[in-house]
Amino acid sequence: MKTIIQKVNQTDLENVSFSEAEKLLKNGELVAFPTETVYGLGGNALDETAAKKIYAAKGRPSDNPLIVHIASVDALNVLANDVPEAAYQLADVFWPGPLTMILNKSKIVPYGTTGGLDTVAIRMPSHPVAKRLIAESGVYIAAPSANLSGRPSPTTAQHVIEDMDGRIAMIIDGGSAQIGLESTIVDLTQDKPMILRPGFITMEKLKEVLPEIGIDPAVVSKKMNKNIVAKAPGMKYRHYAPKGELTIFEGTMDKVIATINQMAKEKVEQNLSVGILATDETKDKYPYGVVKSIGSRNEEQEIAAHLFGILRDFDTIGVSYILSESFEDNSLSQAIMNRLLKAAGYQVVQCD
Ligand code: AMP
Ligand code: MG
Repeated sequence: MKTIIQKVNQTDLENVSFSEAEKLLKNGELVAFPTETVYGLGGNALDETAAKKIYAAKGRPSDNPLIVHIASVDALNVLANDVPEAAYQLADVFWPGPLTMILNKSKIVPYGTTGGLDTVAIRMPSHPVAKRLIAESGVYIAAPSANLSGRPSPTTAQHVIEDMDGRIAMIIDGGSAQIGLESTIVDLTQDKPMILRPGFITMEKLKEVLPEIGIDPAVVSKKMNKNIVAKAPGMKYRHYAPKGELTIFEGTMDKVIATINQMAKEKVEQNLSVGILATDETKDKYPYGVVKSIGSRNEEQEIAAHLFGILRDFDTIGVSYILSESFEDNSLSQAIMNRLLKAAGYQVVQCD
């Protein structure tokens, strides 16, 4: 399949036409598009055949459900049953934006979209391109991240082209995704609202609206714990993995730097290629390997925005090993560490 690439000028969006993308979506084809979190791989959420195409293009296991993107709160009652008051309270504060809610699905949502579940994940994105595609096409767009299953999520159109060129009908290039991490997922189908995936909307911000909110044990676990059954089916799969073997180093900064240097030296002496994921504060302290800074430790949002891109950069360079510093486990860094731990397959070295 020849993939059409439409480059859009962010500063002149009103004058851009998305009619071709909208026609493709209405006809059950797939279109990748920018959102404020990461690039999405969109198809008609109510068309089981389109959902199947999404799974095929990504190589995604079919029990890993898709998020349905909407452009108006009215869609909640169309796609979901028994919508609780909490959903409207969250929508009021955080939509449009990087928050996904899990609700009981209505009849019109096919099981092909929900991975066989009776619940459906719904989000209203704030990115102007995403908003227009949904509103103008009149299609509820099922859109997982537009990467091949298992790879780091795409934060630029170039990342999408790497993974999806020739596999889908169209890619809309709208520049870099601002946030760089996928949406926060909140399950509203149980008695107590629960965070199933941390993201840009942090626990603290959610608590201001729903003080009783909890967090799924699988999210805070530092291990791939088989005894903890992940509520969000996607959590059980290997995710975000770069091609090089990624290890995270935890402990005091001095010890982390010393341990990474020792390991990097050993690898380099064996002629193995090493990448080091450092920060602005530490990047000059590593004499071995290819050192890349993810940003300043004082700028969590910058680190979040650079995470997936830097993992892909190491793939492009072709390093066999990636040695990474770790981050705090609170606020936005909780989401950063959650993605990094998964990318590393939970391979962590304690430096004490
Ligand atoms: P992605 O779009 O690639 O970020 O993946 C979406 C993720 O949302 C999936 O991997 C699931 O973990 C989660 N998700 C989607 N639908 C549901 C649902 N009905 N119940 C629980 N988690 C869901
Ligand atoms: Mg994904």
